[in-house]
Amino acid sequence: MGDRTAAGAVEMITTPEFEAMVIGAHPDDNDFGTAATSALWASQGKKVVWVVMTDGSEGSEIPDQPDEELMLLREREQRAAAEVYGITAVEFLRNRDGHLVNTEDTRRQVVRLIRKYRPRVVFTHDPTRHIFAPDPDENPNATGYLNHPDHRATGNIVLDSIFPFAGNPRSFRELLAEGLQPYRVHEVYFFGTESNTYVNVSETIDVKSEGLMRHASQFNPEDREKLFERMRERAAIVAKEAREKKGLDIQYAEGFRRVKIHVPPEPKTPAPGNEE
Ligand SMILES: [Zn+2]
Repeated sequence: MGDRTAAGAVEMITTPEFEAMVIGAHPDDNDFGTAATSALWASQGKKVVWVVMTDGSEGSEIPDQPDEELMLLREREQRAAAEVYGITAVEFLRNRDGHLVNTEDTRRQVVRLIRKYRPRVVFTHDPTRHIFAPDPDENPNATGYLNHPDHRATGNIVLDSIFPFAGNPRSFRELLAEGLQPYRVHEVYFFGTESNTYVNVSETIDVKSEGLMRHASQFNPEDREKLFERMRERAAIVAKEAREKKGLDIQYAEGFRRVKIHVPPEPKTPAPGNEE
């Protein structure tokens, strides 16, 4: 740490402006990972911003649909879903779907948004998860799956942006000219991974499904009831885990791996007799 009082020194800001920023690779990733928690926090008056890293242009079965048409359609769907959840703002970074790479440019995009919104918590994909494989002896008919490379790239871009770049006055100095001061995120919540933290989303689990249905290019309206049922089933499994691991009595939960990066100092309590 350099000298903050040196001539020309720029101080890192640690006071958040937004409660949460959710950064996912594709339109609907943030919904699957965090919609019920996002909607709950929004209903409590907390400011939540969603960021979508790619243009979603590989999310269709029709090879000759124009990329831009699909991108704009999926952005409209994502905005409509975000409105259902009460999200304050949505940012689309429009990197090419299926080709996301952790580069100087993609890190700058994320550092810019972290400095702009100053979220206390950032939610994102866990970049260390590559293979999801059930034990073939325990579950002979269950299939494993491989995590999408854009999800892993997003996790890495976001983590590198949080540390060291968003908080370092000498990183991406061109952003200072945009008035974007260095800022330190307090916590990261990873979704789609083993959880150590559970959010009671019993109030908002159906809001999540309602929002997911706004992604009309991805879900058939006839499957509406099935989707609601599936989301409740999944959230009930997470709630059971919350009971087993943490003794929490919850009907529906979303789970996250929570990592604290910055713990603000306790406000100083005046010594007895010294109150003003
Ligand atoms: Zn995705």
